[in-house]
Amino acid sequence: MEELLEQLLEECRSYTQNGHLASYIPELAKADPNDFGVYILNSDGKHACAGDFGKCFTIQSIIKPILLLLALMDNGVDAVRSRVGVEATGKPFDAINVTDQSLLSDHINPMVNMGAIALCNLVKGNDYNEKFNRLLSLTRTLACNPKIDINESVYHSEKQTGNKNRALAYMLKSYGMITDEVEDVLDLYFKACSISVNSKDLAYIGFALSNRGKIADGYKRIFSYDYAHYVNAILMTCGMYDGSGDFAINVGVPAKSGVGGGIMAIVPTRMGIGIYSPGLDDKGNSVAGIKLLERLSNALFLSIF
Ligand code: GLU
Repeated sequence: MEELLEQLLEECRSYTQNGHLASYIPELAKADPNDFGVYILNSDGKHACAGDFGKCFTIQSIIKPILLLLALMDNGVDAVRSRVGVEATGKPFDAINVTDQSLLSDHINPMVNMGAIALCNLVKGNDYNEKFNRLLSLTRTLACNPKIDINESVYHSEKQTGNKNRALAYMLKSYGMITDEVEDVLDLYFKACSISVNSKDLAYIGFALSNRGKIADGYKRIFSYDYAHYVNAILMTCGMYDGSGDFAINVGVPAKSGVGGGIMAIVPTRMGIGIYSPGLDDKGNSVAGIKLLERLSNALFLSIF
């Protein structure tokens, strides 16, 4: 397997130069576009890796499935579902423009910013510090890595420049879909996106989702089978932004990407995969990361379709 990974990484290396670094969060533009790494953790506990799999980057949107898991564990499906929907577009078949309709939970998806900001309000904790620590602790547990922590510079960079997220949060507040102070909720969201991980961590977190709630460390159950099912299904339809349809056709497994350049892929019952290459396409997905997953899926028959 390691040989295959080395070979595919070399075959896809030229694609690392085809993307652009995210720059709307200034700190992200400091990434090295040449970094490229992959880590796979199989259901039997065996692993394979190649390239810069130990290189750290911020988790960004890949925190969204973990945030969703925590909101589900804290509140159950019905309460989460009443605030944040599950549909890829949330629009009726004949919709012209959703912005002139009132905002309903069904219009909000947990894998895009508005839904994730609403989820931040649902995490339990006495204050926002405790809520963040609970999210960080779940991330560490799933990744089996107690050293995972926040990247302070990215956090401050996001907080300074995140005015679009502020607009989304105030919109939610105006519809009563967040009840706490907007800046507190946003602070949790910015911190959550700034958690620093590597490809190995993502493979381990993906492993827990592929393994229906049991982590690699001692196969301990952390969340229920039903929640794994819920999160994986949403990732399949909307994990790769508005590139999710192409990804479903060309790769065919639940996955989540982030603008930091990471991709976490889940092959149900088989493996968790973590990839890092920070050059993004115009949808915000890692260009070389997707190419690598396409080839890996072909070589190992990973598609669930
Ligand atoms: N922190 C980023 C933002 O809110 C996350 C975006 C992403 O990875 O999709 O803009």
